[in-house]
Amino acid sequence: ARATIGLTGLAVMGSNLARNIARHGHTIAVHNRTTSRMTAMLEEHGDEGDFVGAESLEDFVAAIEKPRVVLVMVKAGPGTDAVIDDLVPLLEDGDIVVDCGNAHYADTLRREERLKEHGLHFVGTGVSGGEVGALNGPSIMVGGTDQAYERLGPIMESIAAQVDGEPCCAHVGEGGAGHFVKMVHNGIEYADMQLIAESYDLLRSVLGLSPAEIADVFKQWNEGELESFLIQMTADVLRHTDAATGQPFVDVVQDAAEQKGTGRWTVQSALDLGVPITGIAEATFARSLSGHADQRAAAREVYSTSPEGERVDRDRDEFVDAVQKALYASKIVAYAQGFDQIAKGAEEHGWDVDLGQVAKIWRDGCIIRARFLGRITEAYAAEPDLTTLLTTEYFATAVKEGVDAWRDVVATAARTGVPTPAFSSSLAYFDGLRRERLPAALIQALRDNFGAHTYQRVDREGTFHTLWAGDLSETEA
Ligand code: NDP
Repeated sequence: ARATIGLTGLAVMGSNLARNIARHGHTIAVHNRTTSRMTAMLEEHGDEGDFVGAESLEDFVAAIEKPRVVLVMVKAGPGTDAVIDDLVPLLEDGDIVVDCGNAHYADTLRREERLKEHGLHFVGTGVSGGEVGALNGPSIMVGGTDQAYERLGPIMESIAAQVDGEPCCAHVGEGGAGHFVKMVHNGIEYADMQLIAESYDLLRSVLGLSPAEIADVFKQWNEGELESFLIQMTADVLRHTDAATGQPFVDVVQDAAEQKGTGRWTVQSALDLGVPITGIAEATFARSLSGHADQRAAAREVYSTSPEGERVDRDRDEFVDAVQKALYASKIVAYAQGFDQIAKGAEEHGWDVDLGQVAKIWRDGCIIRARFLGRITEAYAAEPDLTTLLTTEYFATAVKEGVDAWRDVVATAARTGVPTPAFSSSLAYFDGLRRERLPAALIQALRDNFGAHTYQRVDREGTFHTLWAGDLSETEA
């Protein structure tokens, strides 16, 4: 055995991750179910580092130093289980299986339990950054035991993206924490992209700017607090012209957004945990709506394509500034909600997750990398038990400064018929949080009326029920 680590599953993510590991001086055993993928990779990239190519899983396992670290980077779902089934009989006490695919954290918990029975560690690990990140430095969210991280951590930290000499890789928590945090990361990515898309739609529909002009706006935004990988990418995409037609590229792409499932998982988990992640949920539903071509066509027929809303005449610079503020405030809400979900998930599962550290390892390597994340790390450093990110001084100042513009943008969108589900729901969430009295009181009263579900009073301790079908007197439950 001479490899420090092994990796099976050499499609685009796996081979790039293996090359990244080899380039950092680690000897790596590589394997793929279909051997030709492995030999092709070594032919093309074998000179980038010290690889040990293995045709069989037996040879692959035998090539790795004990306790073995085996990274699995295969198609998430049954593929992962199939590989684990084949690996388990070949491994020994204390070996570590690391699933770097996009697994659901509940599957990770199940697999961890199962491997524990065989004396093996199972580490669910979220890897973000797409194929480029995998090769040049991803953001890595590691779950599993402390013991497994001692062996695995140094290698993963060496290949992760680095910010000011600090790796964008951490043991975010035990058990399924790595995949849970990666799931919420992807959910936040959905919200981020939806907010960007709504901003673009508003600038185009209300101001009549061209995609190239909007690219300039995003480029300018990228020089301020909104600076991020996705804002920069939006400028690049909007500037791109389709070679075949000469049209703006964005105009030749079908307007039906697909999803692989992590946004849906995030929303499902949030419903179970009772955490209102309105930004992520609206972003996920907006993708679903875009995909319902038949309903959209039917609705267009009945209601016509042009909005019934007014045409408004807005000053360009003023409206661009308002949209920027609305985008930033909505983004703060979406992140506050995502971090709430991680906190709640950690509490529910008994994981010790440092939220500031999560923000820190998202500063580079991953898709949502942004300047903004440093502010979140600072907020949790100052107050580890923070109730909500929205109340920290920095974010509260930004929201207070932007709130008038935010209302103006949402109102303008409603008047002109531009759908802004993420902007609107984020504002509603913000208003809901800060409201002195919510109409939830009426809901409680209704629940007590039709189902004797009881209520609590503002002026006295206790649980009460009103005899709605009787003399309307109040009883203490
Ligand atoms: P795919 O998800 O397309 O998976 C292909 C790989 O899985 C191949 O190596 C394939 O082997 C292997 N595989 C599939 N089924 C089995 C099986 N039953 N037994 C053994 N091997 C199997 O590859 P990607 O590189 O796109 O992604 C890998 C993982 O990384 C996935 O879990 C994905 O969700 C995750 N991920 C992907 C990102 C991306 O940007 N693409 C970003 C972050 C994570 P064979 O060659 O023999 O068919």
